[in-house]
Amino acid sequence: MENGSKRVALVTGANKGIGLEIARQLGREQIIVLVGARDAVRGEAAAGQLRSDGIDARFVHLDVTDTASIAQAAAAIGASHGRLDILVNNAGIGDSADGAPGKADLTAVRRIFDTNFFGPLAVTQAMLPWLRKAPAARIVNMSSSLGSIAINGDATSPYYAVRLAGYNASKAALNMLTVQLAEELRDTLIVVNAACPGYVATDLNGYSGPLTPQEAAATPVRLALLPDREIHGQFISAQGPVRW
Ligand code: NAP
Repeated sequence: MENGSKRVALVTGANKGIGLEIARQLGREQIIVLVGARDAVRGEAAAGQLRSDGIDARFVHLDVTDTASIAQAAAAIGASHGRLDILVNNAGIGDSADGAPGKADLTAVRRIFDTNFFGPLAVTQAMLPWLRKAPAARIVNMSSSLGSIAINGDATSPYYAVRLAGYNASKAALNMLTVQLAEELRDTLIVVNAACPGYVATDLNGYSGPLTPQEAAATPVRLALLPDREIHGQFISAQGPVRW
């Protein structure tokens, strides 16, 4: 096992998009970054790119929908580091067969839930023993304004018209996980929050968002580096708390 003076962060889906930028920004804080990716070539390439920027980045094979892959990643982190200081549940998908509740393809909805809800739940459960070993662990779940039930029901919101039964419900479920986990862990050293990155130009939306991944990474990184427990069990964007 390595000498453990540096903090260790695992970012899921860190080979591109917002996850890669979260990894970069955490790495710049002298944190060892474990670049979680389901594809070894893409994951190694991303970790190599970060290393060439002077960041201590290491690829960890992690498909958040694959129980064996999650167990192997948890075992490897335990063997190498003996603890995990930061977990960012970032991996997420949309699906072109998703849509309004009346017509969304059920297989697509299940696929989205597998990645966006069951993935973070399974990864968190597997990493909890190592998070409990850290002196001030932080869990950040990458949610979305589209996961806000209040915003989905608010006709004045710019997100009101986005009817994606699978994606929006998967992020609402992730928000519920955030609240429940935060309460379950209230008496521990672990802080849990959900991040709302804004509308960001990535593969997920065909690069339609106005924000850059660099800008979007700021909120999850802030939550990953929280100095105390003042923000716990909350849903936070760059503008402040988001309505559940
Ligand atoms: P992205 O560029 O498409 O990146 C998604 C990442 O998740 C990729 O690294 C992808 O890996 C990975 N991933 C997908 N399925 C996975 C699995 N089963 N196991 C491991 N990794 C998996 O999208 P993004 O916009 O950066 O999204 C990052 C997070 O932010 C997501 O949770 C998304 O829902 C959330 N978010 C995004 C926006 C936005 O406007 N972009 C807004 C709100 C919230 P591959 O390269 O292998 O596919």
